[in-house]
Amino acid sequence: MKAVVFDRCGGPEVLELRERPDPVIASDEALVRVRACGINHLDLWVRAGLRGLDIEMPHVLGNDIVGEIEAVGAAVRHVKPGERTLVLPTLSCGTCAACLAGDDNLCRSYDVIGRRRNGGYAERVAVPAANCLPYPENLSWERAAAVPLVFLTAWHMLVGRANLRPGEDVLVIGAGSGVGSAAIQIAALFGARVIATASGAARLEHARALGAHDTIDHASEDIAARARELTDGKGVEVVFEHVGGPVFERAVAALARNGRLVTCGATAGGKATLDLNLLFGRHLTLLGSWMGRRSELFEALKFVRAGRLAPVVDRVMPLAQAAEAHRLIEGRQHFGKIVLVP
Ligand SMILES: [Zn+2]
Repeated sequence: MKAVVFDRCGGPEVLELRERPDPVIASDEALVRVRACGINHLDLWVRAGLRGLDIEMPHVLGNDIVGEIEAVGAAVRHVKPGERTLVLPTLSCGTCAACLAGDDNLCRSYDVIGRRRNGGYAERVAVPAANCLPYPENLSWERAAAVPLVFLTAWHMLVGRANLRPGEDVLVIGAGSGVGSAAIQIAALFGARVIATASGAARLEHARALGAHDTIDHASEDIAARARELTDGKGVEVVFEHVGGPVFERAVAALARNGRLVTCGATAGGKATLDLNLLFGRHLTLLGSWMGRRSELFEALKFVRAGRLAPVVDRVMPLAQAAEAHRLIEGRQHFGKIVLVP
């Protein structure tokens, strides 16, 4: 089969399309013929080299996989060859106290397909059969591959962590990213008033089309001052953050009294300044969030199937152009997800 692999960590240029043997499946696994694979920021971090992450080389990236099941191991009962599937990207042990409580994202062996284990930048991939979820039949392969990780992450952040309630004001930072475009829709679905930040008129228009009630151009406006203006000086109850760096301080400053900020990333830098006077004086809560519970993807998929949450695909590219796709994401010129097709 053809696969995009890399032998050493580095820039997009380390990604190469190569001929590889088909994966061999274990008794509890399924072999999936990949029809589309979404790209996530996580792929870029793994490719560049994550501290403490030892991966076997050559490595195949790719968390968001959809395709047809070609074969299953002897112990597999709930899926069979010929079925279409959307693959749950997360992995956990299934036996520890956290897993048994349904908090599988807190499992000590929690991981994501394509991080240590080979992923979907390939024509075929072996996955645990338990990860093969029913396919959302209302979506094309390319659109379905834009769903799993961002909707799981955004759902866990807003619903699981921030406990979003109807009528609250939510500030979504970085509407142009996959996770930002999912957050706007989830927040609107829950009856919140959504204020989204992005740069440039076209992206702000796109954010409004997804359900944002107001927008802030973060290239030309101060997000904290503008968020306060848009809420009559109150500030927002919830900030959805994943950018970090200098943005984090402005995001905290946008919060109303008793507000909470939830974050799942730091694409602009992992170090930020925090004014402790604001933290206690305004009674704020800061929430970290990592991926999500598998049950939360089931919840989000109900609304995806009903057409009430829709993946946003910026463009579809052939697998051979994976390096070019990574460059586009690093250049932040996209809106929504970039999806690879073998
Ligand atoms: Zn576990």
